[in-house]
This record gives sequence, structure tokens and C-alpha cells, in this order.
Amino acid sequence: MNNIAITGISHDGMGVGRTEDGKVVFVAQALPGETVEIGTIRTHQKRRIADLEQVLDVHPERREPPCPLYGVCGGCALQHADKGLQAELKKRMVQDALERIGRLHVDVAPIMTMADPWRYRNKGIFHADYSSGITRLGFYAKGSHTLIPASECLLFSEQVNALAGWLENAITATGISHHIHNVMIRESKATADLMVVFMTATPDFKATSLLPALAHDWPQVRSVWHNVNTNTKLILGKTFHHLAGEPSIEDAIENNRYALSPQSFFQVNTAQTEVLYDAVKKMTPLQPSDTLLDLYCGIGTIGIHLANQVKTVIGVESITQAVKDAKRNATANGIQNATFIKDKAEKWLPQWTAKGNIAECAILDPPRKGCDETLLQTLIQTNIPTLTYVSCNPATLARDLKILTTGGCAIQRVQPVDMFPQTAHVETIVLLQRADT
Ligand code: SAH
Repeated sequence: MNNIAITGISHDGMGVGRTEDGKVVFVAQALPGETVEIGTIRTHQKRRIADLEQVLDVHPERREPPCPLYGVCGGCALQHADKGLQAELKKRMVQDALERIGRLHVDVAPIMTMADPWRYRNKGIFHADYSSGITRLGFYAKGSHTLIPASECLLFSEQVNALAGWLENAITATGISHHIHNVMIRESKATADLMVVFMTATPDFKATSLLPALAHDWPQVRSVWHNVNTNTKLILGKTFHHLAGEPSIEDAIENNRYALSPQSFFQVNTAQTEVLYDAVKKMTPLQPSDTLLDLYCGIGTIGIHLANQVKTVIGVESITQAVKDAKRNATANGIQNATFIKDKAEKWLPQWTAKGNIAECAILDPPRKGCDETLLQTLIQTNIPTLTYVSCNPATLARDLKILTTGGCAIQRVQPVDMFPQTAHVETIVLLQRADT
């Protein structure tokens, strides 16, 4: 019998405890405060991991996971914790990362939760599996080749679940097995319009026979595309063919509307994106005379959300298509004080500041790998008084905050936002100001 006390939570939502010899062990689905019986310990990616055999001392906020695929899927690593406990655990994950990686001992505000934390995802890329003789659309369970059906996932709307089920039958009916590798479905939360993108490895789309039936049965599908992807390492290939309907669908954040093409980056939880951007707006002290830098701006959404608070917005983004989308989005929403530049933030900022330009505030919203150190050093040297860092990865956030605080920036507020309820992911906004201002 191997019983251990769970005392912590890992960055990916596993319970953490120690065996009698003092060594750390990670147990999926176990909660801090619980005593659990574990199975055989194995080493996986340098961690000692054990299965949960039985919970001996149950956390009062543990709940029966609503999803029948929980445990097989692995995507919703915290579904066994109720809403309040998820909030507490995610706050703790941020606090742990800041302390362990950044050696930063600061208060973390309670996480901003989502009112209805289900069916929030607006985009899914589903793998087409033909192994059982019929088409199934879904995603692979963590670390395995078990297909989790998209038609049953509780993070998508019922409409998306139904469309995935319909497409499985329609693709099977075409008789062209193995042609479509993946299907992307996008859903506008503002209009309930849908976009479907079929992905194949060959230039021709051979399943055209399903398109009339799709148009007939699914009038909500306003836009249909074919993506050619010969490089299996990429999610989307470079070549797109428009098959039917409109080229894009439109979603909204607050009063701003965004045209979404197949390749546009858009936060996956539309409702919480508004909460996130509003929190950025509230936390960041801005003046009507300010120049605001929106670094890693994507399709310009944060800058557009804040544009009426400042004199000028300059967005910087490395992907050409996203910059085009950002410009179009600003125009479509009547924003006249924003410009968008295609460049790497770490390359652009030193050049811009070398010309004597100054900004009162910079928003940083990098991908999971965090900011380039050159960018952080430039921010330190140029004395931009206010920095608002929006992060989807507490580990790289902690690493970068260490650099910024060492360089003279002081952390004013750490505000987690739950953009991905049920999963172990957590978004965090950090306000920093120069210690000398
Ligand atoms: N702020 C946006 C996008 C955040 S995602 C939003 O809220 O939707 C991060 C963005 O940074 C992506 O669009 C990615 O293409 C871009 N990016 C990645 N590396 C970059 C770099 N070095 N310089 C500028 N942009 C970069």
C-alpha cells in the first residue's frame, strides 16, 4: 500500500506529494489536501509519476467530473475540482511560478472566473480518423492515440458538437477515405455563424460532393475553405482555397467587430477575452496624451480595445497576415489613432527608441515562450514608465518578471484571469511601473 499526502499542484494540474523517502511524485486527478493511494511510480519526462488508485481523504470541493470522457481525454486536467477550487488552484499555480522561478514574493489577486465555464471554445482543429472504417473527428487524448470525439466535448457549443457529428457522416458518405486529414471549425459567439476549413495534403479537394449537402443542412456555416498542408509539422498549410460562402465570419469583443479568416489568430474564449481586455484597461493607468505600444499585437485587438484611452497606439506583430487584419480591424471599427507594424518586437523597439521616440506605456502579450531578452533589456533602458504584461504561461512570465524587476521595474498588481476553465491553463496580467517614477 502506497499512501501519500498531496500538498501542492503542478503547472499542468497534477497533485504533488512526497513518498516516504522524501522524493516528489506527481499524481493526476489528485488535489492538495487529499491523502491518496497511488499505483506504481514510473519516470516520465524526468518526473516521477503515479496513477491515482483511490482518494482516502476527499477534498470537500472535489466533484464528479461532468464530462464522460474525463480521465481518458486529459484535456480538462482540473474538471474534478469545483469552480471555487479551480480558482484557488490556478491562483496558487501563478504564485508558485513567481516564487519558484522568479524568486518573487508578491500578492496575487483572486482569479477572475467565467460566469458559465463550459462550451466556451470558439475554434477547434479536429483530426479525421478513419481507422474504424467510418470517419471520426476529434483530438487525441494526452500522450496516446485514443480519439476523443469532437461531437462530445463540453468545451464546444452544442452546435459545434452537432456539426462535427454531421461532418463525420458526410465525409464517410463521400467514400474518399484518408483524403481529409483535419477539419477546423470556427464559431462566432456574437452571431453563431460557423466556418469550416477542410485540410488535405493534396492540392485538389476531392470531397466537393459534400458541399451541397453542407449548404442545405447547415445554413449557419457561412464560410467554407480548403487548406493544403503538405508539411505535417504545421497545423495550417500556406495555401487556402475558398470553397463556398463568405471569405470570413465576424465576431465581437465589446463593441468592436472582427472579421475572422481561416488563419486569423483570435483568443479561443471570446467572452473571457472581453473580461481580460477590460481588466487590462482598468489596471493600466493611461492618459489621453499617451503613446501606447501594443507589442505582440496579433490582429490588433488589445490596442483597438484601448485606443480611445490614449493619443496614439502602435501595434507590433511578426506575422504579415495578422498585421493586415489589424489594420483592417482598426478601420472597420472607426479607430483612427492606431498604426500597425510588421516586425519582431525585439528588433523594432531598439530602432524606434534610438530615433528618440518615447512611449508612456507598453502592453506585452507574447506567445507561451515569453519575451525575447533583448526586448526586456530595451524596455528597461528606455524607461517606459508603465508596462502591462499579459501572459498565458506563468513559467516564462516569472522568468521575464525577474529580469524586469532586476532592471528597476516594480510589480504593482498580479491579476490572473481564467480564460480556459476546466483546464490547467491560466492567463495572468501584471502591471509594472518604474520604481523611480
Ligand atoms: N495580443 C493579441 C495576440 C497575442 S498572441 C491578442 O490578444 O489576441 C501573441 C502574438 O505574438 C501572435 O500573434 C504572434 O504571431 C506574435 N509574435 C510572436 N513572436 C513575436 C515577436 N518576436 N514579435 C512580435 N510579435 C510576435
